[in-house]
Amino acid sequence: MEMPEQPRSRRQTRAAILTHLLQSGGSFRPPLARAVRLSEASLSRILFDLKAEGLIEEVRRPAPYVGGPTGLVSLDDSVALGALELTSQWLSVGVGSLSGELHYTERVPLPKKPTIESVGRVFREALTLLRDWTRRRRIALAQVGITIPGLGRLSVSGNPIIPCDVGRIGDMFAELFAEVPVTFTNSVVAHATFHRCRTENYPFNDAHLFVFVGQGVAGAWVDDPIEDDALDPVELGHMVFGTDGPRCRCGHHGCVEAYTSLPALADLLRATETELLQLGPDWVTTIPLTSRVRRELRQRLFRLGLAIGNTLNVKPCRGVVVSGWPSHLAEEDRKAVIDGIDACLLGGRKLAQVSVAFVPPSNGNDPQAALAFAAFCLTRSGGMPAASTEAA
Ligand SMILES: [Zn+2]
Repeated sequence: MEMPEQPRSRRQTRAAILTHLLQSGGSFRPPLARAVRLSEASLSRILFDLKAEGLIEEVRRPAPYVGGPTGLVSLDDSVALGALELTSQWLSVGVGSLSGELHYTERVPLPKKPTIESVGRVFREALTLLRDWTRRRRIALAQVGITIPGLGRLSVSGNPIIPCDVGRIGDMFAELFAEVPVTFTNSVVAHATFHRCRTENYPFNDAHLFVFVGQGVAGAWVDDPIEDDALDPVELGHMVFGTDGPRCRCGHHGCVEAYTSLPALADLLRATETELLQLGPDWVTTIPLTSRVRRELRQRLFRLGLAIGNTLNVKPCRGVVVSGWPSHLAEEDRKAVIDGIDACLLGGRKLAQVSVAFVPPSNGNDPQAALAFAAFCLTRSGGMPAASTEAA
């Protein structure tokens, strides 16, 4: 049966196909046609173009169903993407493929007390490395993704986590990589993209709230990838839970971020962030938790839940994905997050039919999130990016 085709621009149709391939990792023609609401004939014509442009490839493979065709369509892995991820300790730079394979990666350390000037110099050094590496191999980058922690619509000019001037970095790009499309984004948006594209059996296919508990605490609304507002940052980390609480980087006291970010956790556990990142999921078993610390942890997670619940009260939505250190905890401990959501969600979690899923944290794997974001930018543009610097 053929579905009626929706009126969409050529770019939108190509974007629907490419983002579906990015999120699924590959698809046979019939399910692909259904997923993007195209007849197989129309799909064929577009796949022909995408193949000719080197954006997709098709491998003949036995289909998993009787009488099925045999072409498995996937994104072409020879497309090269650039990725830059700013963390509290270094700037990661890399080149990788649409499927997330990194061919080159380097970390340029940040000074102890970074300033706009010194971070600018770190970016120049990383961009020079990137230019030299790609030039020697005659590789043309199809898209570059840059992730900056805390970058938001309200903080484009003054970044609250690590000082940096996005406008100036954009100019450096234009100078060193003319014609290559570059997109800046908030780290949480990049991590949401990373999980959405790289997690097998990602818990939600439709609109949901992604919450990232890392250097900061922030969320992103995740929706149909070809919608304009497919990925919108949500500043839920600065909900205040008591003005006598710990000081937050935003200048206020008692923000949920000041209680639950990775630096706040490190502080509570008397460890450093680096130690926690190195331990990965093992911090839970390696660092002994006294009953006082465990109680405090649960109380903080409960506040995180309240912040998430409040966000859902403002904009209802059925799914929540939490990524970050809470995901490492045993179910009985992280239940505090769910209790917090339940305690403040209008009508409670059952009535609101909200389901919560935990996915492992993706900090420490830089620049994978920036690479996934670059892939997303390319596919969402339908492989027809306008060469420009833009903020997502
Ligand atoms: Zn704050």
